[in-house]
Amino acid sequence: MNKLLLRNIIVGGKPCDIFIEGARICRITGAGAFRTDTIEGIETVDCHGMTALPGFVNSHTHAAMSLMRGSGEDILFSDWIDRIWTKERKIDEEYIYHATKVACLEMIKTGTTTFYDQYWYPSVSARAVAECGLRAVLSYVHLDHYDKAESMRQRKECEEVYEDSRKWPDNIGFAVAVHSVYSVSEEQILWASNFAVRHGLRLNVHLCETKKEVDDCIARHGVGPVKYLDRLGVLGPHVTAAHTLWIDDEDIAILSERKVSCVHNINSNLKLSSGYRFQYNELRGAGTNVCIGTDGCASSNNLDILEAMKTSAIVQKAWRGDPAAMPLDELLAMATVNGASALGLDCGKIEEGALADILIVDTASTFFLSDAPFLANFVYSAHSDCIDSVICNGRFVMRHRQVEGEREILDGARKILSKIR
Ligand SMILES: [Zn+2]
Repeated sequence: MNKLLLRNIIVGGKPCDIFIEGARICRITGAGAFRTDTIEGIETVDCHGMTALPGFVNSHTHAAMSLMRGSGEDILFSDWIDRIWTKERKIDEEYIYHATKVACLEMIKTGTTTFYDQYWYPSVSARAVAECGLRAVLSYVHLDHYDKAESMRQRKECEEVYEDSRKWPDNIGFAVAVHSVYSVSEEQILWASNFAVRHGLRLNVHLCETKKEVDDCIARHGVGPVKYLDRLGVLGPHVTAAHTLWIDDEDIAILSERKVSCVHNINSNLKLSSGYRFQYNELRGAGTNVCIGTDGCASSNNLDILEAMKTSAIVQKAWRGDPAAMPLDELLAMATVNGASALGLDCGKIEEGALADILIVDTASTFFLSDAPFLANFVYSAHSDCIDSVICNGRFVMRHRQVEGEREILDGARKILSKIR
């Protein structure tokens, strides 16, 4: 079992030692207090001048869209999604593998240690994630466009991937996704929901992303997407809803009562002009677990959670006319422990017993040269390249900005891009 000691690292403002054994944080003591003389095979890392933070949880993304960034700029959401669906008809398992590796590389470099994914071929993504050493929950996405033959094919494939997922490593979980209420038939939504409940799986869905989605749902079903899914009995504590931008007070009450986790994806929403009035105070006030995601690179262009944190907060402050909206400690919780909680994972925090997913942040740059609290400088001033090293599941996945196999990952992706051009 690997044993790792982070010596003299700042945790919550105090210099500490963090001892990691296997995948978990075993002990946290004052700096210099942890004795290593009786422990065999321990690696000690001097972290003087560094601050520890929990690894980020990206609560909504489509990792393998990493090679589609910039391919749908300055067009309407409806045209953008048509363009994406056209591109997706051309991709295969080899593409998914290389694109997921690029996403993992980018997530490691920007401090994400866990992500909740919704994309095609999750078994292939699982291989890429395992090779990169990250933690993830990968969902099989149901998206039948109301086509019966496609519904049946997806049900069979979902069952096959679920069977395959039992062989995945412990740090990679399987979930079910319903793409959205506008792209999936009612029968398929019910099938996917029942499948998730029957097998104790989590379920995620794009929900109330655009006003059009809500208007169309009312025209088709007489109620908006939240009430529609609630009427179908789909909503529950195992459900994570991405976006939830166009919701009313009744929707907030339903989401809170059903204990649905909501994911704010600000950069995607801004870029696609979907909206920006995310009801953070109202959702939090109702007791809802609110998390942060980037969405896929086709809309957000990168997977940088730190950037998403800053944008979420400043947009929230701006539209409310309230600089106290979305405070720093809550922002960090949204990007870490709240995301972990949505996935039922024991990470997103630096505590004895928790999974050892830790960012080692270098505070030597100009961005930290003030007597302001660390978190203020980290979120509003620094960029993610201040993250010097990343530990996931008790092991280093990046040391001093170096990720093993980085060149091969980039070369593999370039080859795939030149093939599908
Ligand atoms: Zn999405």
